[in-house]
Amino acid sequence: MLALVPFFVPALIDKKMNTVVQAAPYKVSNQTKSLYDSLDFIGDLHSDVLLWKRDILIEHDHGHEDLPRMLQANIALQAFTIVNKTPVGINFDRNTGDTDQITRLFMAQGRPLKSWFSLTERVIEQADSLNEFSYRSNGQLSVIKTKGDLKAYLKRRQADKNITAGFLGIEGAQALEGKLENIDVVFNAGIRMIGLTHFFDNELGASAHGVSHAGITEFGRQAVKKMEDLNILVDLSHASPKLIDDVLSIAQKPVIVSHTGVKGTCNNVRNLSDEHLIGIAKTGGLVGIAMFDQAVCGSDASAIAKAIQYTINLIGSRHVALGSDFDGAIKAIIEVRGLPLIVEELLKLEISTEDIRAVMGDNMKMFLLQNLPN
Ligand SMILES: [Zn+2]
Repeated sequence: MLALVPFFVPALIDKKMNTVVQAAPYKVSNQTKSLYDSLDFIGDLHSDVLLWKRDILIEHDHGHEDLPRMLQANIALQAFTIVNKTPVGINFDRNTGDTDQITRLFMAQGRPLKSWFSLTERVIEQADSLNEFSYRSNGQLSVIKTKGDLKAYLKRRQADKNITAGFLGIEGAQALEGKLENIDVVFNAGIRMIGLTHFFDNELGASAHGVSHAGITEFGRQAVKKMEDLNILVDLSHASPKLIDDVLSIAQKPVIVSHTGVKGTCNNVRNLSDEHLIGIAKTGGLVGIAMFDQAVCGSDASAIAKAIQYTINLIGSRHVALGSDFDGAIKAIIEVRGLPLIVEELLKLEISTEDIRAVMGDNMKMFLLQNLPN
């Protein structure tokens, strides 16, 4: 769609691309509200908000999140995942990397020239923007890079609930431009999670939405090894089934799927099979359930809850988390302040409060305390 609106006002593109099915305000029962308010760690594994050059320190009436809305939703930690190249005519079935919509978007947004034509620079530019927001937030938004950062932040948050934090990821390792040494570059920019592929096959392996449907490449193997050595989380969202098989066979550390649905409730190329869910859990991994129609085959919070329930029943509640895909150029079922609706639906499904706490954020917290760099 971006290709049709060249050099359009960036805020308008943002508004057009990131819509919701159900807008605020969100009403829930008193029981749900008191459970939600008692959750001391709510976390989400995937948001693309940095792509839009939205000033996230200000509350907006469009898109899915910003700092004021995150604080209203009591979000403790958000993964900010950096989109760096998406094909024109993007679709779920067949894309190549021959075209790119982000170049035009970055030009329209007035981003620095060096980020127009380098995917690695696009990552650094968006990472810098999060650091800048953090700097300007008067301590309300921290950027987490290590276990120590997370522990210190948790301590501060015990005394002050009106703060939040983020950590950085990449969506699509074409951002490495085929160079292993760029893993060091993005690590130094704060990246702690890398999705191997996005919508097209790249130097590391095949996308679920690509052309080859192949697995991992030799470069991909070396990259995964290097990510594990640096304690960068390997994210298998958007990976081809063969690529998932290949990574599961070589992974030495827990893998993550930051935003996905499951074939058990929504059978399409984007979503994880039972076999892959089980394989990911066996690594000690974590699966974030996304919050849009094509991920959960439904347009209300009950569809999200059903995907969570299915995944809990298959692999156990310790491996399940939230992975909204907020501001990922989607029509999200809810924006960030609608998360209590998911809790309400989980209660209706008679999921235990212990499991709800785990899925809403405790699992993500424990996972990062174990798997971030020291
Ligand atoms: Zn995605």
